[in-house]
Amino acid sequence: MADRMFGTNGVRGVINEDMTSTLALQMGKAIGTVFKGNVAIATDTRVSADMIKTAVSSGMMSVGTCIIDLGMLPTPAIQYYVKKHASIMGGVMITASHNPSQFNGIKCIASDGTEASREQEMEVEAAYAKELPCVSWEKVGKVQKVNGAGEEYIDAVISNIDADAIRNANFKVCLDCANGAAVQTSPLLLKKLNVRTITINGNAQGEFPGHPSEPTEENLKDLIFMTKATGSDLGIAHDGDADRCVFVSSDGKFVSGDKSLALLAKYILSTKKGIVITPVSSSSLVEEIVKQEGGELIYTAVGSPIVARKMIENGAVFGGEENGGLIFPEQQYCRDAAMSIVKMLECIVKNGSLSTQISKLPVYYTYNKKIYCPDNAKSHVLDFLERISTEGTVDKTDGIKIIFKDGWVLARPSGTEPIFRIYSESKEEDVAKARADEYEAKVMDFLDPDGIHRQPKTSEER
Ligand code: MG
Repeated sequence: MADRMFGTNGVRGVINEDMTSTLALQMGKAIGTVFKGNVAIATDTRVSADMIKTAVSSGMMSVGTCIIDLGMLPTPAIQYYVKKHASIMGGVMITASHNPSQFNGIKCIASDGTEASREQEMEVEAAYAKELPCVSWEKVGKVQKVNGAGEEYIDAVISNIDADAIRNANFKVCLDCANGAAVQTSPLLLKKLNVRTITINGNAQGEFPGHPSEPTEENLKDLIFMTKATGSDLGIAHDGDADRCVFVSSDGKFVSGDKSLALLAKYILSTKKGIVITPVSSSSLVEEIVKQEGGELIYTAVGSPIVARKMIENGAVFGGEENGGLIFPEQQYCRDAAMSIVKMLECIVKNGSLSTQISKLPVYYTYNKKIYCPDNAKSHVLDFLERISTEGTVDKTDGIKIIFKDGWVLARPSGTEPIFRIYSESKEEDVAKARADEYEAKVMDFLDPDGIHRQPKTSEER
């Protein structure tokens, strides 16, 4: 593994290649050494869940940590459990979120239920690199199995909303669990709210046979079809560990994460004025709506732990990312898909159908590009872009964002791959597209002025 083990969402790898039982055992010892106290553990639905959980647990017990085994759960459910129970010093979630079935990962949760900070991860990484002493036989940790953490989480979610308004609305929804951890909680949540639910991909056998577990429009064709064909009020889709949630409107249209973020910000600000937090990569749609509703928007670097920490610092009323990761402070400071479902249902009760609400939103066009860039050239590309930015305002919250009168361009190096991403947005489609092309060409010319070593183009658009 690389010097830095933790990526943006824990340590991840392909099972028995870079994510092995040996690595998991040593990670368990490192986590137990750093957390010092009882640690909760849970998994998503992957085939390798038990293999990694057993190795991590064994490592933790060998250094004297007692394990609270919560079984199979969404990531926000274990986060809620850790936050709620003061005797628990942290959590470990065994998941690779939206990655394919051959992957698995280890994600650490701090004692307040938030995703572990970079400092905590560095402590675990430093411990991992050392020979860690085991405790003597009488101090070895034990395992306590706990059932019902999923229901405890659901009940907390329900306590945070106008449950009767949802119960009386006679909703019908189509739910796509992506054969992931949502199987444990979302159907029960909807049942408790008297929502008639048609569930697809509700099989927790760990092979994701229905579709890849990233909730993109392309992967959700069945849900899009089913939502319209069954006359459902809403389509709901999760990623593999059910911290994220995206929606389909009753007329069978995929709703991008930017739009649901903007609509929920509008709804939440209509009941409580305050600050909304989102990364610099989010659409200006969110900023426009927040300002319209008399709220204040603060931008952060990309990454849900960064958004969550900024929300805590500023006492924000809402926050989230454009990928369907939404954070509701009344529940907890992490992405919470069950809260996203109930808030969206509540928003439909109060503000009308999702398709009508979306038709009233201003339209923005976004084009994204992906350029091959060696890691050692990334900082030079950023310096170059800053040097040539004579027009527009430069923002360096994450990568470099150049804000023009009629849109913006964001250039960000990937933290994990030899890739540079370019995002371009404008209310005018041709402006957004032309700027994406222009900046792609600038970066490619800078990296390889003669075009001799040019890698094949890997562009993506949305
Ligand atoms: Mg996830």
